[in-house]
Amino acid sequence: MTEENDEAWKELSEISADPPEMRDQCSQCRRPITVCWCPGLPKTPLCPQSRIIILQHPAEVKRCLRTAPMLSLSLEQNKCLLFRGKKFPSKHEGLMEILKEENTILLYPSVDAVDINELPKVGVNGQRPYNLSMYHSSPCLSSLKACKLVQNTASSYVIRTQPAEGCLSTLESGAFSLSILENQSWYKDAMLGPLHYLCKFQLENGAVTHQSKEFLIKQKTYPKLVGKRLARQLKISSNAIHN
Ligand SMILES: [Zn+2]
Repeated sequence: MTEENDEAWKELSEISADPPEMRDQCSQCRRPITVCWCPGLPKTPLCPQSRIIILQHPAEVKRCLRTAPMLSLSLEQNKCLLFRGKKFPSKHEGLMEILKEENTILLYPSVDAVDINELPKVGVNGQRPYNLSMYHSSPCLSSLKACKLVQNTASSYVIRTQPAEGCLSTLESGAFSLSILENQSWYKDAMLGPLHYLCKFQLENGAVTHQSKEFLIKQKTYPKLVGKRLARQLKISSNAIHN
């Protein structure tokens, strides 16, 4: 047997009997390793005095709440609670109690919502930490004091087309609100890290203002859907662009 053959057999014997995982996934953000944004997270999760309560409608999971995991991972575990459902607070353990607390406020731009900057800061004049409920508005929440973010900052979430101008991602809304309520302006920069990391990566890899399907295919988000012919086409068109 030649040396080359020996090598080949050795290689074969070292291959695991189990098929390799299709995609390596980050254990923290659950995204493919190639698009993991965890390096942008604060080194240690932040521990504000207030809590964020995300009320998430099932229809919103895919649409505009993609940054919710960034928000929850940038904060200590008990500082970001996520409740999913079509109606609140039905059957959500502990949610009713939170909504009844006097210091629970709703981030929602209703007509009578006050500018969040006008709310007393945590610790000033004995102001207790807030429970900041985000996003969902339903009749049972109408008794909560509503506040809104009033600012000119455009969303940093440049990759995804926002539903409306001035619309902030979940992460941005949470980060700006906490910075204001707790009077810790550095919070927002620390918390926006993963979003900046993700956007920088995507811009460097050819995404322009939104995640095109072509971009997703190249990132292997759609591995099974691409036939050989399409893959060849994509290769050709990307070569044409880069040359
Ligand atoms: Zn990750």
